[in-house]
Amino acid sequence: MLGFLAFWLGACLGSFINVVAYRLPREESLVWPGSRCPRCGRPIAPYDNVPILSWLLLRGRCRRCGKPISPRYLLVELLMAGLSLAVWLRWQSHPGWAAPAVLAVGDLLAISLIDWDTGYIPDALSLGLIAAGLLCAPMNPLLERGSWYWSVAASALGAGVGFLICWGVAALGKSLFGKEAMGGGDVILLAGVGAWTGGTGAYDCLLVGSLLGAVYGVRRVLRGELRMADPVPFGPFLAAAAVFNFFCLLPLGFPFIPIR
Ligand SMILES: [Zn+2]
Repeated sequence: MLGFLAFWLGACLGSFINVVAYRLPREESLVWPGSRCPRCGRPIAPYDNVPILSWLLLRGRCRRCGKPISPRYLLVELLMAGLSLAVWLRWQSHPGWAAPAVLAVGDLLAISLIDWDTGYIPDALSLGLIAAGLLCAPMNPLLERGSWYWSVAASALGAGVGFLICWGVAALGKSLFGKEAMGGGDVILLAGVGAWTGGTGAYDCLLVGSLLGAVYGVRRVLRGELRMADPVPFGPFLAAAAVFNFFCLLPLGFPFIPIR
């Protein structure tokens, strides 16, 4: 029952993330006016705005103008619903933590979509991730250190580690290749990831995220869709690695030290 609730609230959060990903880069208000068809701009009635179900019932078309509405809206709602259920199943022993963890995963998903679309990460989302990570540290089972102030310290240290290693890699990349592989948005994002998953999480995230990003970039270069000099948005790959860390932290020193 609670699992179904987690799935449904996750779908609603996914619906809001779609709004954020569309409106935040356009500097539009997130709450007013209500949802509109991205094609004809006419308002969407509440009964046509039910997460997942409306898109399926209307077969991905606007009721007013009949033009197709991207399946991405449905996929984001389904993905967020699934992630919310998964976080609940993983952390139901820490109910006070599961809810903020779902919101953090939602923030990472919004960051991914916006970075994918525009190539930049809004500071409001990444700085908010740092602040919320510090605030929620006392409830965070990934940062359990015996007392609440040590948990907050571990979160602050994680943010610092994330900032420094990402900044270091970005500076190194720039001096080696003479171009920016990672931007300032990625540095603040990794600080946010560190605030939620500690120094180990930040390290894991940078390692796994750059590996995923490199595989994606090389594949597109080999297919002739990208040139070596073209920028690849790193945010979605860092965010995917960070979400993985919410379920399982790899040990510091991975892949040289095996998972126990
Ligand atoms: Zn329409």
